[in-house]
Amino acid sequence: MIIIIRNNSDRTQVDNLINWVKGLGLDVHDSVGAKTTILGLVGDTSKVDIDLIKSLDIVESVKRIQEPYKNANRKFHPEDTIVNVAGHLFGGDNFQVIAGPCSVESEAQIIEVAKAVKASGANLLRGGAFKPRTSPYAFQGMKAEGLVLLKKAREETGMPICTELMNIMDIDLFQDVDMIQIGARNMQNFDLLKEVGKLRVPILLKRGLANTIQEWLMSAEYIMSEGNQNIILCERGIRTFEPATRNTLDLSAIPIVKQLTHLPIIVDPSHASGISELVLPMSLASVGAGADGLMIEVHNDPTKALCDGAQSLRPNMFEDVMRKVERMLPLVNKVIR
Ligand code: PEP
Ligand code: MN
Repeated sequence: MIIIIRNNSDRTQVDNLINWVKGLGLDVHDSVGAKTTILGLVGDTSKVDIDLIKSLDIVESVKRIQEPYKNANRKFHPEDTIVNVAGHLFGGDNFQVIAGPCSVESEAQIIEVAKAVKASGANLLRGGAFKPRTSPYAFQGMKAEGLVLLKKAREETGMPICTELMNIMDIDLFQDVDMIQIGARNMQNFDLLKEVGKLRVPILLKRGLANTIQEWLMSAEYIMSEGNQNIILCERGIRTFEPATRNTLDLSAIPIVKQLTHLPIIVDPSHASGISELVLPMSLASVGAGADGLMIEVHNDPTKALCDGAQSLRPNMFEDVMRKVERMLPLVNKVIR
């Protein structure tokens, strides 16, 4: 349920209303925008007397929200949420590129790739230390040592780091990470979502391989219901019947998600396509569709990559993507800051 407050209402009266609603055992999401103030009520609203609220002087209107996601709903928070990752902004008119290898493989590799992607204009560094692999015999990541190397790369380049947390048991190792990724395979690991919800660090929430947009937003809701509002969604392709690409990039998810939620959404064209030559066209298509950023896999020598070499860009290909993305950004009124 949302309560739209009349413009120029007395703030004390608004606070009294909030306290009264909280007294009914509900949570209140208070969204004070430039034009309107909206109170979003979360919980069992069946006991709320709508007519009583409508009769208050300060209330413009009251509406029930049909969607099961409340905190993530744009009706609760009409303005775009801006998520700050160590000084780099996601959402609104900001555009960000996160780049780096699929996995951290060695100190030399992560530092070389970090320097290259930074030189081309990426603001954040990615790299998996804990890797969710389909085969138990495949490289599983450097784990804690990989996190140490990522932090070294951050020290060398000044780039904030984004890396995947797979298991609640490892959460303490991630305290100093700038953005925690929840991977596609864990999008519905509800216990993990609740744990990262207790943190305040930004969360990159990837869409599950076969999950609907509503399920994805419900996963964001799990995180937000624990208090962490710093979520960036990442469309990374979904399973379809088409085997020509690793996944099918759901480009229309971008404008739909933007209608449904105030959270920023970025695109990972690398996992979405699985083919390095497709990363440029899919990046440009994502910019055109209104994405707030990109996450791209880059490797100094993709032929030797321990994971996802076929979709990884060489630094010179990444440079080309960056220059072309930059040329498109004015069309969608976005800026890399
Ligand atoms: C990744 O980003 O390294 C990754 C494993 O992606 P996804 O969870 O989207 O498959
Ligand atoms: Mn990968």
